[in-house]
Amino acid sequence: MPGAKKVGGYKNRILRVNLTDRKFSEDTLSNEFIHDYIGGRGFGAKLLYDELKPGIDPLGEENELISLVGPMTGTNSQSFHRWKVTFKSPLTSGYFTSSAGGFFGAEQKAAGFDVIIINGAADKPVYLWIHDGKYELRDATYLWGLDCDDTHTLIREELNDPRIRIACIGAAGENGVKYAGVFTDRRAAGRGGGGAVMGAKKLKAIAIRGSGKVAIAEPEAFRQAAREQVQILKEHEGMKGFSETGTQLAEFTNLLGMYPTRNFQEGVLPDWEKIERSVYTNLRERKTACYRCMLHCGSITKMNTGRYSGAWTEGPEYETIWAFTGPEGKADVGLTIAADKLCDDLGLDTISAGNTIGFAYELYDRGIITKKDTGGLELTYGNSEPVLEMLRQIAYRKGFGDLLAEGTLEAARRIGKGAEQYAIQVKGLELPAYDPRGAKAHGLNLLTSNLGADHNFGYAGQELFGIPIPREVDRFAVESKGELAKYNQDLTAMTNTGIYCNLPLSMATLSPELYAKLLSAATGVKDFADPDYLWRVGERITNLERMFNIREGFGRKDDIFPKRLTDEPMPAGPSAGQVFEIEPLLKSYYKARGWDAKTGIPTKAKLDELGLGFAIK
Ligand code: SF4
Repeated sequence: MPGAKKVGGYKNRILRVNLTDRKFSEDTLSNEFIHDYIGGRGFGAKLLYDELKPGIDPLGEENELISLVGPMTGTNSQSFHRWKVTFKSPLTSGYFTSSAGGFFGAEQKAAGFDVIIINGAADKPVYLWIHDGKYELRDATYLWGLDCDDTHTLIREELNDPRIRIACIGAAGENGVKYAGVFTDRRAAGRGGGGAVMGAKKLKAIAIRGSGKVAIAEPEAFRQAAREQVQILKEHEGMKGFSETGTQLAEFTNLLGMYPTRNFQEGVLPDWEKIERSVYTNLRERKTACYRCMLHCGSITKMNTGRYSGAWTEGPEYETIWAFTGPEGKADVGLTIAADKLCDDLGLDTISAGNTIGFAYELYDRGIITKKDTGGLELTYGNSEPVLEMLRQIAYRKGFGDLLAEGTLEAARRIGKGAEQYAIQVKGLELPAYDPRGAKAHGLNLLTSNLGADHNFGYAGQELFGIPIPREVDRFAVESKGELAKYNQDLTAMTNTGIYCNLPLSMATLSPELYAKLLSAATGVKDFADPDYLWRVGERITNLERMFNIREGFGRKDDIFPKRLTDEPMPAGPSAGQVFEIEPLLKSYYKARGWDAKTGIPTKAKLDELGLGFAIK
């Protein structure tokens, strides 16, 4: 290890599980691997690139589901304890990594593993039980068909320990819904279809329990850096509001005119006041938080009146509120709560589910599909009553839901009749709750992300929240937005090695300098104390993920939005008249990245510079 006195932070154990022959093996982390990729998302990117043959079936035995934590997981730092799953996505057929909060990550570390790699497929349902360095596969036949809450309860009962942490799938994962997520205590690694990968492997859950501690290389320096982090979070104005209300942004994005409404046809939901933040805080029963996070951004919310009286959920957070209001063109707070809980039970990604339902509403509105196709459901704008039924049909692949379970792009291809132009997605991943016409660097991130349209790949807090770091920007301007999108993406990749939560990251609560202090003190690796080195690792990760996708046949042709966003000006509201100027924006992005302008492939010089020469073909 270049510059290492003593490497702290890691457990130095990789567990490999082959479900086909029910065999386990172990590896260690090499010093070079730690130095070059740090942990979390970095480890996942390199392992997936090295271990998957190009062109494999994401739902086949060869795909891997890699469960990852970082060197800061389980330490006294704040908001660093999320957990990641990395896999080839059945929705995009490309690289994917998805992250969840909760307690699973800290428990994986305490159980003794930095990385768990699962491949193969079992012949009958199983769950993986890992406890303090030991592991076994157990029968999950009796759990198959159960929702996520019941799966948590029954595994804890079977193993007689209420403190076991569980990551599991619901009906959506079992039935191969392309956007099924992996759920842990009602928090989700929701996007990209990791739940379908688990379902195809007949892996119902991973249950985990540990009591190990994390050894810190330089305890006093780490304590000081952790104190500095707490002080910053305490004094940060944006974090005070965020702590109070969670991710309640509906008011905010409506006032920016970029709240996707009626399948991105408009940017303001007419009655958005019914879903603004105080509506949800008034329904809050109590606050919740992930492992060692002083921000406590979660809530248990319960509806006490109306059609959905009695419905409760942990959430809903902003993306979910949007998913069950904007696409259908109706602000119904009760539905957002009931639909969020149903998605948690069924194991569905709320963003892709809501966007896909919105796609169906538009097809219905245009007469491309009719009641005959929907099995009698009336998908008229302003009528969001069919949503819960649609979610059930999707998760169980019943009736019309079987088609929608494929995601917008594949469903559109099967429907034909010009439906594809109404599939609002990138690389097969449905867009989340931000219209790219209203924020150009944010849109560029959605356009170029290695995951498809994932806002967590590089959130433009500068445009959304007015964060002046690295500089103030005009959200509509095109100039220098390539550079800004690269900045946000590489910063996210860098801190995803940790694994820092992207929510406080979007408000610039973690500078590369502070991350360097925390990381170098935790691990003792000298190079990690250099923010420039960490930027380089962030850039290395985004480029390696890009090369995974290039190997799968992706390129510039896939950095594309549906014409609605590039050719149809926003019709009204605070973003009226805006389009997403794709050509100049993409050009500035490729230039900032050092990628070939025609193909969108990283140049040989760029790959060499980043130590990715092995990816050059
Ligand atoms: S900010 Fe919220 S989601 Fe992020 S780690 Fe803290 S409690 Fe969890």
